[in-house]
Amino acid sequence: MRSPITKTTLPARKINIVRPPMGQKHPAKVHHDPAIPPNTASSPIPLPESEARQRARRKRAKALAASLAEWKGSTGAFVRHLDRQGVDYLSFSHVSSLEFCPYRYYLEFVRRIRLVPQPDYFIKGRILHEALARYYRGFGRGRVPTPDMLHKFIDRHNRADGSQLKNAITLAIQNVRQGWEVVAVEKPFITDLGGSLPPCLGVVDLILRKNNCYAVVDHKSSRRFTDDDADGLQLEIYRNFVRQSYKAEVCMAFYDEYRWVDDLGRIRKPAFRRVLLEYNLQEWESVLNRLVRAHEEMLAIRKGGRASGSGNCYMCPFKVRCPKASTSRW
Ligand code: SF4
Repeated sequence: MRSPITKTTLPARKINIVRPPMGQKHPAKVHHDPAIPPNTASSPIPLPESEARQRARRKRAKALAASLAEWKGSTGAFVRHLDRQGVDYLSFSHVSSLEFCPYRYYLEFVRRIRLVPQPDYFIKGRILHEALARYYRGFGRGRVPTPDMLHKFIDRHNRADGSQLKNAITLAIQNVRQGWEVVAVEKPFITDLGGSLPPCLGVVDLILRKNNCYAVVDHKSSRRFTDDDADGLQLEIYRNFVRQSYKAEVCMAFYDEYRWVDDLGRIRKPAFRRVLLEYNLQEWESVLNRLVRAHEEMLAIRKGGRASGSGNCYMCPFKVRCPKASTSRW
């Protein structure tokens, strides 16, 4: 798999997934070797549990996956439906919110406080995801939208200056993977992760296939690239889903990261990079342990336990609504 490398593009790099102590940010180990090894991963190691519990857990996940398959509305509406019903499920958003700050998890997923208006970075990220989804769906339909069509889509949905979004689209087109088939775009799923975990819900941005090899891709956008946000948890969950559902023996996992820039002709640092997430069984085991710990803490908070605040308030979108917010750094 080769991508055209331009001055706007960093070569692919690899990271290993890591698991931080609860409530701390992820110090991802980063490896700059651009070679992409074959992934020969087998099934993940389940945590010990009785056969009866395993059967019950799988049955719950299967029933929920069937509900999702039959659901006629949007994935967001499905999530709201689950929440109204009080269904116990896990998602990457739950875990990332809890690990950022337990009190944020409480505000976001127990009190269900919504930020109005939504932060700009959230709106911009959503429009980029929708534009990229249109672009990649075009491959599956044999009618790939032109850059002009995607720019018009951005202009229709973005009230502010769309230069940064249009530049991200230019980078996506420059860096499109050659020779890969688009299997699914914005694919919602429910998967069984094993252990004592409830069904896990997620949406994969992009699933690709080349011969017997699959790849999951997550699009990210930000003002600057940092190694801190190279957390592989989300991609590991997606990769597990693809291995289970598509019987994929080999599944690579990538972050395609876009840096917001006003003018591609005037940048000194690349504005796009592709990050390959390495896989090994021990790391998957640690992912499961991390999810189990997070889920236990979520259950405790939902049952009325104390949700502590973290020191991340200066970069928390809830700081304007949070009674525990510390204002010392913003
Ligand atoms: S403002 Fe601070 S205490 Fe409140 S949710 Fe955010 S990080 Fe937690």
